[in-house]
Amino acid sequence: MLVVAGLVIAFVLVLILSNRRTRSCRWRADRRQDRDGQSYYRCMACGAQVFTSNGKPPLDCAVNPRDTQED
Ligand SMILES: [Zn+2]
Repeated sequence: MLVVAGLVIAFVLVLILSNRRTRSCRWRADRRQDRDGQSYYRCMACGAQVFTSNGKPPLDCAVNPRDTQED
C-alpha cells in the first residue's frame, strides 16, 4: 500500500508542478488565425504564438526551450 500512496503523491506533485509552469502564461485562442485544422493560441503574458492540433491551449510556454509540439 505504501507504493500506491507514493504513486498518488507523485502524481499530485506532477499536476501541481505542471500547473505552476503554465500559471504565468495566458493562452488566448484566435479562431481567425486557425489553419490546416490547427488551433492558434497566443500567450498574453509573453507573446508566444503556438498552433495546437488538439484544440486545447499548449501545456508549456513556447518561450521555454522545451518541445511544445503536440505531434
Ligand atoms: Zn507565455
